[in-house]
Amino acid sequence: MRMVLMGPPGAGKGTQAAAICRRYGVAHISTGDMFRAAMASGSQVGAKAKAYVDRGELVPDDVTIGIVRERLSQPDATNGFVLDGFPRTVPQALGLDELLAGSGLKLDAVVLIEVPEAELVRRAVGRRVCPRCNRVWHLEFNPPPEPGTCSCGGELTLRPDDTAETVRARLAVYRERTEALKDYYAKAGILRVVDGSGSPQEVEALIAGALERCSE
Ligand code: ADP
Ligand code: ADP
Ligand code: ZN
Repeated sequence: MRMVLMGPPGAGKGTQAAAICRRYGVAHISTGDMFRAAMASGSQVGAKAKAYVDRGELVPDDVTIGIVRERLSQPDATNGFVLDGFPRTVPQALGLDELLAGSGLKLDAVVLIEVPEAELVRRAVGRRVCPRCNRVWHLEFNPPPEPGTCSCGGELTLRPDDTAETVRARLAVYRERTEALKDYYAKAGILRVVDGSGSPQEVEALIAGALERCSE
């Protein structure tokens, strides 16, 4: 299984990617998580990404394609992967096709999770993340066992870019730059659009159904 999970900020990509990776035993590759880890470690990539991530803008394509190229070359990705939040621009999609073609591979499916805008803001603003294990919770929709603390014991944090203002900026970027990918993957015949407004379990079932249809 080699697939892309697309969708606006807060749509549930990370939540669903984790479920798909458990189900199929493939690698979860989140460019957002990779940029946050790079920023936390103070690496060169982190320094390049920071100003963009803080403002809710896209990190330049060359930097982003570079980290994905490196990540896909790691052994655990040879079994398959779910790309979460990449590609986000047409040049990134072209770059990905090129990377895969270089190894004689291609994508099996692109699943687009659609959620109404008001709900996206509620999901993102109430999101709390564990810096220790990367697990994602929600104050209302998926609360941790103890307020403020992850099941691993880590202290939950609010992502600095999950303020209502920055979420709206990220949504605008999504409409301007990322939505065009819908056409790109529809033309390739691998796009599956899923209604993401139900519960995580409902969305998981819809995605599983969409993926089955891909392998027919
Ligand atoms: P994305 O990776 O697309 O930004 P996440 O998976 O991080 O989205 O989900 C955003 C927030 O919404 C998280 O706090 C998550 O717990 C919550 N969430 C995810 N899926 C659902 C859902 N189907 N219904 C309600 N809340 C959800
Ligand atoms: P969300 O889960 O809410 O959609 P992510 O965690 O995927 O957000 O991404 C957080 C930030 O990381 C983005 O706003 C952007 O600055 C940067 N980023 C992540 N993926 C990409 C990408 N494919 N291209 C450019 N920037 C990216
Ligand atoms: Zn944790």
